[in-house]
Amino acid sequence: MNYQLSEAVPDHRRFVTGCVGAMKHNCVKPMMVGVNKAALKDNLHTIKSRLGNHGLCAVLKGDAYGHGIDIVAPEIIAACSHVAVVDNYELGIVRNLDAEIPLLRLRVGSDFEIVEAAEKRWRVREMVASLPKVKEISRIAGRLGQQAEIHLSLDAAGLGRNGLNISDAESFDALLLAILDLPNIHVASVGCHLPDAGDADPVERHDPSRLALRRFSASTRRLLQLFNDRGIQLPEVSAFSSASSCAFGHNELLKDLHQPVFDRIGSSLFGLTVQNRHAEKNTRQVMHVGTFVCDVVHRRQGEKVGYEHCYRVNDPTGERIALLGTGWLSLSRYQQGEGKSITPAFGMNQFGGSHLFLGRQSMNISTIRARGSDGYELSAGDLLFLTTDFGPVDAVPSISKVAWWMGGVQPEFVTSTFGGSASSTRFLF
Ligand SMILES: *Cc1c(COP(=O)(O)O)cnc(C)c1O
Repeated sequence: MNYQLSEAVPDHRRFVTGCVGAMKHNCVKPMMVGVNKAALKDNLHTIKSRLGNHGLCAVLKGDAYGHGIDIVAPEIIAACSHVAVVDNYELGIVRNLDAEIPLLRLRVGSDFEIVEAAEKRWRVREMVASLPKVKEISRIAGRLGQQAEIHLSLDAAGLGRNGLNISDAESFDALLLAILDLPNIHVASVGCHLPDAGDADPVERHDPSRLALRRFSASTRRLLQLFNDRGIQLPEVSAFSSASSCAFGHNELLKDLHQPVFDRIGSSLFGLTVQNRHAEKNTRQVMHVGTFVCDVVHRRQGEKVGYEHCYRVNDPTGERIALLGTGWLSLSRYQQGEGKSITPAFGMNQFGGSHLFLGRQSMNISTIRARGSDGYELSAGDLLFLTTDFGPVDAVPSISKVAWWMGGVQPEFVTSTFGGSASSTRFLF
C-alpha cells in the first residue's frame, strides 16, 4: 500500500495506523470506520465537568449511534453513573462489561424483550409509559422471583409516545397509586423527554421546552410527595438529553426537587451537537471514515462514467477516474457525484485536498476524480477520507456537512449509516 502518513493533520497518523491494525485483525470490509479514542475521552471529560453534580447517563442506543457499542462502552463506562440503551443486544454488551451500573432501556420494551432481559438477569430498568406495561413487568418479575426496576416516563412535552399522560393531576395520582399497588415493582427513576430543546430559548419564559420542563417538575413534585407520604423510597430524576442539557443545564431547574438528577447524553458524546443552537462546546467528532482506492482508470474526452451517463469527460487529454470499493450502500444515495446531484460530494486525500465524486454512484462502487484540489493524483492503495474534519480546509466534509447534503437529516443518522453499513470495518484508534 502506498498511503502516506501526514503530520499536517492531527490524528491522521493514528487513524491510518489504526486502519492497518484493523485490517490485520478483521475480515476486511472496504469502509474503514475509526472511533477516535482521544476525542471520545475528551468529550466525556468536557460533558462531565459541565454537568457538575448531575449524574452522566451515557446513551448508547442504535449501537452507540453507529460507533459500535462494543467499541465505545468499554472506553467510557467507568466514568458514567448510568448507561441507557434500547435493544437487548446492547443491554447484553453493557451488562457483561459492568455487573452493577444502572442500566436503562430508553424505549418501552416489547414483552419479548422484557422477558429475555429478565430471564438473563440483566436487571434492566425498563421504561414504562402505561399501566398495562407496568402490570406485565410486575407479572414477569413475579414469575421469575425478581424485583423489577422501572423508569417512569412522563409525557411532559406532549409527544404522545413514551410517556404517561400528566395533563390531569387527579388521574395521574390514581395511576401512580395503581402502580404502587403492584407487587415486585420499584420505581427507580422518573423522567421526561424534551424533543425540541436544541432550539430552545433557555431564558424565554414561554419557550415550549421550558414549559414542558415546568410541567414535568410539577408532576414530579406531586409524585415525590405521594411516595413520601407512603414511606416509599424516592426515585431519581432525569429530564435532559444532550440538547436540553446544553440549553438548560446551567440553570439547575430541578434542584428544588431535592433528588439525585442524571442527564441522558448521547449525541454530544460523539461530538454531534456542534450544529445545534445550544452546542456542547469543545466537543469534537469521534467517527472518522476512510476507504482505499481500488484502481485508477483513464477515460478519453467524450466518454461517460457510471450509470445513467450523467458525467461526461470534457478534458481534451481525458481524465483519470479513481474507483472506490464503497458506494451508496454505505455513503447513502445522497452522496452523489457531479452530473447526478446539484450538491456533489467529495472525498479528502491525506494532505487535505478534495476529490469530486463523478456521475451516479452505485451500491458498492464509487467513481471519483483522481486529481485533487491540491493537484495530488490518487493511485491504487491511497486512503481517502469520506467524512472527516481532519483537515484545516473549510471545504472538508464533516458528519454535519454530510447530514446537510443528505437533505438535513440528523447527524446521528449519518454515523449510523456509516457505522452500521454492511461495508464497514469498525475499529478504535
Ligand atoms: C436518544 C435519547 C436521549 C439522548 O439524546 P441525545 O440528543 O442524542 O443526547 C435521551 N433521552 C431519550 C428518551 C432518548 O430517546
